[in-house]
Amino acid sequence: MEADMPLTLEQQHSLEQALRQRRGEVLAELRDETRAEDGSMALPTHRSEAGDEAATDAMDAVDMAQALRDASELQRIDLALQRMETGQYGICLDCGEDIGLARLRAEPSALRCTACQLRHEKTYAGD
Ligand SMILES: [Zn+2]
Repeated sequence: MEADMPLTLEQQHSLEQALRQRRGEVLAELRDETRAEDGSMALPTHRSEAGDEAATDAMDAVDMAQALRDASELQRIDLALQRMETGQYGICLDCGEDIGLARLRAEPSALRCTACQLRHEKTYAGD
């Protein structure tokens, strides 16, 4: 297993391109899902419990769930880009270790190393 090293500038630049491209894609998806002309977030602020009205609203619920996922990915992408500007990109939010190039290539918006991400998901698991 290759050790996690700080990123070279070249590596960071290629990841930045990937992030910006992904950001454009997510924004386009969000526009479709929320039907917002200007890309503003017309997102619901709460999720209703699955109930009797769930069947009739099934389509919207799917759109909504997707839109929420995209919105949270967009937040991660923006945070990752911010961290690039401040020189903190590729450093785990939780433990401060290098996240590692392999993980960042797979997920350029990753903000945590694998171990911390798993712990984070465990802590905040469940809908
Ligand atoms: Zn970590």
